[in-house]
Amino acid sequence: MPIVLPQGKRCAVCVSIDTDCWSIMLRMRAVGLIGEGTYGPINFTRGEFGATVGIPRIMEVLDKYNVSATWFTPGVIADTYPHVIKEIADRGHEIGHHGYFHECPGSMNEKEERESFERGITAIENATGQRPQGYRVPFEIPNCNELSKHTIKILMELGFKYISQHMGPYDFKVTKVRDGDEYYFDRPPKFGKEVNLLNIPVNELIEDDLAYFLGVSPFYPKLDNPSKVYEIWKMDFDYMYEHEPGGFYALVLHPESTGRAHRIMLLDQILQYISQKEGVWFCRMIDLAKCWKD
Ligand SMILES: [Zn+2]
Repeated sequence: MPIVLPQGKRCAVCVSIDTDCWSIMLRMRAVGLIGEGTYGPINFTRGEFGATVGIPRIMEVLDKYNVSATWFTPGVIADTYPHVIKEIADRGHEIGHHGYFHECPGSMNEKEERESFERGITAIENATGQRPQGYRVPFEIPNCNELSKHTIKILMELGFKYISQHMGPYDFKVTKVRDGDEYYFDRPPKFGKEVNLLNIPVNELIEDDLAYFLGVSPFYPKLDNPSKVYEIWKMDFDYMYEHEPGGFYALVLHPESTGRAHRIMLLDQILQYISQKEGVWFCRMIDLAKCWKD
C-alpha cells in the first residue's frame, strides 16, 4: 500500500477549493469562448463575490470543523487579493497552483506553459512566502481540459510533488502519474512510464460546479437542490468509507459557487456528517502526498 495513513486513521478526506473567482470567465473571454458583449461589470462581480464573500464564508465553516484545506489559486487572484490569499495560508491551509490566468496547459505551447507556471509560482510566493507543491489543471470550458505533452516534465522540473486531477485509473486511491502514453485511433494504446509525481484523484461528481455552475450557460447557473447534492456527496463518501479502507475522498469547491448561502449550509452539513465518522483524517493534499511510501 503506497499511501500509509497516520495510525488509527481509516481514510483521508480533503476539502479542495479552486479560487477561480472571475479568472475563469475572463480567460474564456480571452480565448473567444464567450463573446465581447458578454463580459463587463455585471459578470465580473459575480466572480468578485467569490473573493470577497465566498472565501471568508468557506473559511468559517472549515474553522468550525477544524479542517485544513487545499486552495488551488490562479496567480492573478493572488496578485489581486494578496491579503486574502495570505490569510488563508496563515490559517494553516495549503495554497496550490492553478495557472496564472486559469489557462489550460493543452491550449499552450511549451514556452507559454512554462511562463504560466513560473508566473503562478511567483504570485503565490509573493502573497504567502511559500512555494506551491501541488497543481490542478484549470479547465477552459468547453474546449480544453487536458495536459500538454510537456506538462508533467515541467511540473517535475519545478519541484511539484503532486497533481490533483481526475486522472489515473482510481477514484479513491493516490497513484504515481504515468507519463508518455500514446493513443491511437486504430490500435491499442502504448503505455508510458510511472514518474516521480503523484496524482491525488478528484472527480466531478463531488464537485460543486457540476451541480451549480455548468447550467444553460456560464451566466445562468444550474440550480440543483442542495438535498440532492448532499445525497450524492454523502453516498460517494459512504462507499469509499465502507469499501475502500485507506482511501481518499476530496470535495472540489469554488468560492463563487459554494459561497452562496444555501450551499454554505450544505458544506456545513456534509462536513458535520463526515466529521462524526470514526477514523477520518481531514488533511491538506500535501499532507497526503507526504504519506506516500515507495
Ligand atoms: Zn478552476
